[in-house]
Amino acid sequence: MVNLIIFGAPGSGKGTYASRLKEKLNVEVIATGDIFREMIKENTPLGRKVKAYVDRGLLVPDDVTLEVLKENLAKIPKGKGFILDGYPRTLEQAKALDGIAKIDAIINLVVPDWIIIERLSSRRICQNCGAIYNLLFLKPKKDMVCDKCGGPLYQRSDDTPEVIKKRIEVYEKQTQPLLEYYKNKRVPFVEARCEKLETPPEAIVQEIMDGLKKLGLA
Ligand code: ADP
Repeated sequence: MVNLIIFGAPGSGKGTYASRLKEKLNVEVIATGDIFREMIKENTPLGRKVKAYVDRGLLVPDDVTLEVLKENLAKIPKGKGFILDGYPRTLEQAKALDGIAKIDAIINLVVPDWIIIERLSSRRICQNCGAIYNLLFLKPKKDMVCDKCGGPLYQRSDDTPEVIKKRIEVYEKQTQPLLEYYKNKRVPFVEARCEKLETPPEAIVQEIMDGLKKLGLA
């Protein structure tokens, strides 16, 4: 059983890699961004509140986020580990997590800004199963149709140039300092670098798996 956090700027590939690591490590993935998008789609009162933040590239308030995390951690079968994708994003969230779960390692994705911007503006997502595509280098076989389930692909409403800029700013200011927080706590790191736009996800996933094996976690 292994508990991991995957860190990286918006567009660094957290969701893409986490969904592949899920199979290899037999863990659950908790992606707060996906959960929020689901709440928005369902148009619940809380979903409408969340939408106001997500659409502007701002962080959803910590109290709402923590509640969502707890609810989803509670659903994980006993004895199974997890990867957190998109949580924690603030120091308060990291401190709250300390009281709930033990983290075995941090996966940190290092990706240059220009790749992030290229990727986010060409990202498409399956409306039905959430699979992630990219019109440049991770194209669906059939135009705008999901390879896995045949669902229609869409562009996230926060993948627009202004909102992307804001999300990167928020990441650098509020989330990046958390790397120091975990280093100070001596949590082991696995770092994966992506220097090229065309690097296939499998290559990065392999790099992460190798790092986890070295730590005895895979
Ligand atoms: P990305 O990492 O590409 O920006 P996510 O899908 O992880 O995308 O998150 C999308 C949005 O959901 C964020 O911009 C933010 O508004 C909200 N969000 C996700 N996770 C959190 C969190 N832990 N705390 C606050 N807001 C969050």
